[in-house]
Amino acid sequence: MRLRNITGSREAIAASAYVVHEERECRGKWSELFENTHPIHIEIGMGKGKFIHTMARLHPEINYVGIEKYSSVLLRAIQKMEEEELPNLRFIRMEAEEITEVFAPGEVGRIYLNFSDPWPKDRHARRRLPSRQFLARYDEILEAQGWLEFKTDNRNLFEFAVEELAPAGWRAHVITRDLHKDKALMEGNVMTEYEEKFSAMGNPIYKYIIYREK
Ligand code: SAH
Repeated sequence: MRLRNITGSREAIAASAYVVHEERECRGKWSELFENTHPIHIEIGMGKGKFIHTMARLHPEINYVGIEKYSSVLLRAIQKMEEEELPNLRFIRMEAEEITEVFAPGEVGRIYLNFSDPWPKDRHARRRLPSRQFLARYDEILEAQGWLEFKTDNRNLFEFAVEELAPAGWRAHVITRDLHKDKALMEGNVMTEYEEKFSAMGNPIYKYIIYREK
């Protein structure tokens, strides 16, 4: 059963018009794909896509690109689009390490990381999406005035992420260790799947918004 499901999701993704298949060819040309010059905001590790789908519905003046490495979860995001199609949302199945091959310098206006994998072992630190190695990649693709928003319930990952900022040349505009108790920050907050699950269990949600020192 499991194997059949995986094969099925690969095929469904290959056939989906919501998935960009030639993503490297879009580098520097994402506006052409969306047929407008609206800003491009991306979520890296979007999972089943609840956050980015809701954001795209709420902000039709922004183009959204959701990035996910696993077909089985991406399929769920595709199914949401089949139920409610949005012209300003597209998906890529890819490994985030290759992000600079898909977006040109300054092409992205904002980056969202939500409940990224913790990679708890020290030797895997560079795989963490808010690591300095990834910040260097985001630095390439993000426009000068752009920023990055990160939410997680994982305290260790969050403290690691905060420590990575200065050495990588980034600064925090906002840091909270209990997002859901901060009224101002909660205005317009769109919950992700993991956020719903972990906040319901009583876990505090950590969030930062960061920009570059330049
Ligand atoms: N953002 C969603 C899902 C969080 S789980 C939410 O908040 O509910 C983290 C997701 O990121 C998983 O679906 C995982 O497959 C994806 N992911 C982790 N590392 C990735 C990477 N390097 N490239 C692309 N996707 C990644």
